[in-house]
Amino acid sequence: MIDFSISSRQRDLRDMIHGFARNVIRPQSLAWDRAHGIPDEFLSRFVMMAASMGGPAGAWGVQGLGAATSEGEKPVEGAKKASTAMVSTVLSAEELSWGDAALLLCLPGPGLGGPPVRSTGTPEQKERFFSPFRDMSQGLKWGAYALTEPSAGSDVAGIRTSCRRDGSHWILNGRKCFITNGGRASWNVVFATVDPALGRAGHRAFVVEKGTPGFSVGKIEEKMGLRASETAELVLEDVRVPNENLLGGEESYASKEGFMTAMKTFDNTRPIVASMAIGIGRAAYEYARDFAASNYALARHTPRYSAIAERLARIGQKLEAARMATWHAAWLADNEKPNAKEASMSKALAGQASIRACIEAIEICGVEGTLAKDHQLLEKWFRDIKVYDIFEGTGQIQRIVISKRLFPDLKSF
Ligand SMILES: Cc1cc2nc3c(=O)[nH]c(=O)nc-3n(C[C@H](O)[C@H](O)[C@H](O)COP(=O)(O)OP(=O)(O)OC[C@H]3O[C@@H](n4cnc5c(N)ncnc54)[C@H](O)[C@@H]3O)c2cc1C
Repeated sequence: MIDFSISSRQRDLRDMIHGFARNVIRPQSLAWDRAHGIPDEFLSRFVMMAASMGGPAGAWGVQGLGAATSEGEKPVEGAKKASTAMVSTVLSAEELSWGDAALLLCLPGPGLGGPPVRSTGTPEQKERFFSPFRDMSQGLKWGAYALTEPSAGSDVAGIRTSCRRDGSHWILNGRKCFITNGGRASWNVVFATVDPALGRAGHRAFVVEKGTPGFSVGKIEEKMGLRASETAELVLEDVRVPNENLLGGEESYASKEGFMTAMKTFDNTRPIVASMAIGIGRAAYEYARDFAASNYALARHTPRYSAIAERLARIGQKLEAARMATWHAAWLADNEKPNAKEASMSKALAGQASIRACIEAIEICGVEGTLAKDHQLLEKWFRDIKVYDIFEGTGQIQRIVISKRLFPDLKSF
């Protein structure tokens, strides 16, 4: 049976978050953008408020992007009822991002570092690395995911950060870039290779803790959009990481598991990133709709006005299609079904639809739309949206992922 309805509990949650996004988040969005950050005090209050309201913490995204399947919210094995955590998370991610997309990236929690620890960490590692996030009274804490390097972005197999065994430790050397929350994270999941010639089979994932000698934070990027979110360069110089921090232990790397660790992360996070993009695109779309309604005489039989109404209809239909694809990918994750293709489809669709929505919103507002002074939010969304077709795999890479599922016998593209 196909059922696209959401539960009354999810609807209530979505409405509540929307109200919060409208009344509290949106009014501060421009100030956070200008300050290149969100005050810790706001983040603390937000986390405590969301937790006090009960329900799954992940539904509020309070543990960052890694929240959807945080411990305790996973479907219980053998249980009849599937989890709803991922669907709830994409609903809340859209609303929060409608208010301000950078907020979700800034939220304390394991973030993108969560999924690899969860999917491949040993029970001892999960306990050790997740437990600090359970007690926010110790202060705000972040985790991060460090895969990208100056010479390896889309081409993940090409990472050069090296790791070599030295008794009870591993020695890591290399450089990571564009790492969300990497500078302030208590730990980063760092991907390295025992031998670049082995490609993906040579990959290992380590949890590198803040303060480990040789591990330092390089520059913090000055970005075009999502300026309130920290994006850091990380430097590793003879960093000694204990064996216990090799995710999953040595045996799990007998096959291509190292690479799979990196990729599994995306099946969970791409639908969340897609819903964030839809949140921004919808914000711009609604802005243009309201602008058109109050500035143009749409009821008149003037070709220009009917063209504007038709244009808005096209933007709306694309956003809705992307939303449905995203809910589907999230539903598959909740039901523990493979969703790599659908996750990539949702991300590719949402990125494109939302970028178009932001561009056309400016055009619909006419010459006024280009006056950033008067339409500062419109200008901010235009800057924020582009990266949704870049991080977590560019649009081109999503289409390669989809193609590989269409033609599994083809080894490479
Ligand atoms: C704000 C921000 C936050 C980020 N956060 C993180 C993070 O937390 N952790 C992390 O590890 N990384 C992070 N990244 C990095 C991000 O994942 C990479 O930027 C992304 O994977 C693209 O890599 P690249 O920038 O090196 O581009 P490249 O891989 O060099 O790609 C350049 C262009 O070539 C195209 N291209 C590349 N290969 C192919 C191909 N085979 N076929 C067709 N086209 C191709 C791409 O689509 C793109 O248009 C972040 C980036 C940004 C901007």
